[in-house]
Amino acid sequence: MQTREVDVAIIGAGTAGLNARREVEKAGASPLLIESGPYGTTCARVGCMPSKLLIAAADVAHEVAGASRFGVEVGDVRVDGVAVLERVRRERDRFAGFVVDATEALPELQRLRGHARFTGPTTLEVDDHTRVKAKSVVVAVGSKPLVPPPFDTLERHVMVSDDVFELRDFPESLAVIGTGIIGLELGQALARLGVRVTLFNPFDQLGPFSDPRVVEVSRAVLSSELDLQLESQVLDASADENGVAIRWCDGAGEIREARFDKVLAAAGRRPDLAALDAERAGLPLDERGRPLWDSATTQWGDAPVFIAGDANGHIALLHEAADEGRIAGANAVTYPHVSAHVRREPLAVAFTDPQMAIVGVPYRDLDLDAVEIGEVSFDDQGRARVMGRNQGAVRVYARRQCCTLLGAELFGPRVEHMAHLLAWAVQMKLTVQKALEMPFYHPVLEEGLRSALRDLAARLKVTGQCRCEDLSEAPGA
Ligand SMILES: Cc1cc2nc3c(=O)[nH]c(=O)nc-3n(C[C@H](O)[C@H](O)[C@H](O)COP(=O)(O)OP(=O)(O)OC[C@H]3O[C@@H](n4cnc5c(N)ncnc54)[C@H](O)[C@@H]3O)c2cc1C
Repeated sequence: MQTREVDVAIIGAGTAGLNARREVEKAGASPLLIESGPYGTTCARVGCMPSKLLIAAADVAHEVAGASRFGVEVGDVRVDGVAVLERVRRERDRFAGFVVDATEALPELQRLRGHARFTGPTTLEVDDHTRVKAKSVVVAVGSKPLVPPPFDTLERHVMVSDDVFELRDFPESLAVIGTGIIGLELGQALARLGVRVTLFNPFDQLGPFSDPRVVEVSRAVLSSELDLQLESQVLDASADENGVAIRWCDGAGEIREARFDKVLAAAGRRPDLAALDAERAGLPLDERGRPLWDSATTQWGDAPVFIAGDANGHIALLHEAADEGRIAGANAVTYPHVSAHVRREPLAVAFTDPQMAIVGVPYRDLDLDAVEIGEVSFDDQGRARVMGRNQGAVRVYARRQCCTLLGAELFGPRVEHMAHLLAWAVQMKLTVQKALEMPFYHPVLEEGLRSALRDLAARLKVTGQCRCEDLSEAPGA
């Protein structure tokens, strides 16, 4: 076994780990990037990028299938599953290839292949070939999908999201276990590409929303398209060569049974910490085995260990992993001097159709006595009707006292864009008045956001606490 001595050992060459490495190198210290799996990052190989490629094909199929609403006749639509999946892989490989090339271009001395585990707070063993002694460690090991019972014991036909992108062709039918973002994105896309999809959730939860109005609208819209089995208890599942038979008790208490070619387990992801031997390093975990860490510094307990990206179980999103990687890398170099970093306003988008987004403080965390809520429905929003996409609702929150924007929950056509505008406005602590002073073009979907802001302004004026005059006179529809 060889021994390597470095300034900062980084476990995981995903988005967080690569960003941490860059910070360490920038500071003039020596990094060692340790990776047990393939290079290329979860996002590019099996996450953000291939899922959005699949959704892009589904969007096209859906648009074409609905073309006659616009007086455009296209005849029968046929989805060539093999061709769709080949394009997904081809483009995915291109994106991941850039990351692989960049990682392989790093100096040999900065890279090590193998599975790392702690033998002490700053000592690691990598497979059975290398001992690493570091001044500090960055844990950036990402997360793994959960396969819940009874599907975890089935030996065939059960997939996780990684496997979807490796299919040669689409199955005829699919049970999706989970109605979170990954389950909804992939389930809806596959349904639009011709797969008979049923989505299951033992709880009454669909996507990320907590605002009752947005929950109501999103549920009505999505259940008109998808077979959603919410509050359903799977009683048993058995696999044979042809697929999986599932028996479940549905939300109304009826016992039902159906066969599916495949099952997609999309019941959440867990930090990939189990095989790290964190206890040996004395790293503190809570009663559920989650790391006790500080999101402003990424420090794990008070050890010379920093934890970034999906590994910390905080916010499993690409831009958060990149930020946390940078913070972890910077603090790992300066340890024992550790700086707190200001985090960006939360922003999360789900690429369902209509899209879902959460900005800033979600409804569930509001102090309802101290906020006003403005709202708009997309049912009659001009541009949304033009596009035939007039479904959805946006609710925007502001502090009653000073009128500053706090957050929003959005469900509607292409809300990824207005979610960005709002996230910037929230981070800049704009008041509702200031946001309404910004230009809005006509006719655009963002005019829907302006309607919600005007509604909010009107409600704030009612309290008499902040001055929101003349906003109803702003130009445009
Ligand atoms: C289907 C899907 C769709 C997604 N869509 C989006 C999206 O649209 N937008 C968005 O922002 N986010 C999305 N995400 C989430 C995003 O991909 C992740 O938040 C991000 O990739 C996490 O990066 P990371 O660096 O924490 O982990 P990773 O990129 O997973 O890197 C962790 C690395 O650590 C390695 N590793 C683990 N344990 C060890 C060990 N002991 N020793 C050595 N190496 C180890 C792993 O092999 C892995 O390469 C999606 C995720 C999925 C699964």
